[in-house]
Amino acid sequence: MTALDRALVAPKNLNVDELSGMLASADEGLWREIFAAAREVKAKCGKTETLPRGLIECSNICAKDCLYCGIRKGNAKVPRYLIPEEEVAACVDEARRRGYPAVAFQAGEIESEANTVYYERLLAKCRGLEVTLSLGEQTEEVYRRWKDAGAMR
Ligand code: SF4
Repeated sequence: MTALDRALVAPKNLNVDELSGMLASADEGLWREIFAAAREVKAKCGKTETLPRGLIECSNICAKDCLYCGIRKGNAKVPRYLIPEEEVAACVDEARRRGYPAVAFQAGEIESEANTVYYERLLAKCRGLEVTLSLGEQTEEVYRRWKDAGAMR
């Protein structure tokens, strides 16, 4: 049984050396096998289609300080931004025009009424698109408000 066969049974069957060796390989045949195996795993999970999603990084302002993260609040070297609502809305329109079925709003974690309203207003401009939010941990009430405004994930 090859390493790839063992990985298909369970990914943990591969050790770090085997995995790094496969990822570093320039063997096109091996990569075809890896992609085929990946498709097989995806199909087993019931997912056979790819959903293109327009990812919009709305802001890099964050109240948290996760040490691995380049935009943690303690990193004073990073210039901070919040894209104005109308510019994000223009990106959403562009995604729609290009035929994207979905968009995702991503930003650092901010808990405030202004932040909640900012995304509520943007979500109202996403009719017809699936919307994923990646905005840190929020209260249940905020998640409900965003869901009511149209967020799906
Ligand atoms: S909450 Fe997210 S964006 Fe903020 S520091 Fe942690 S990983 Fe980075």
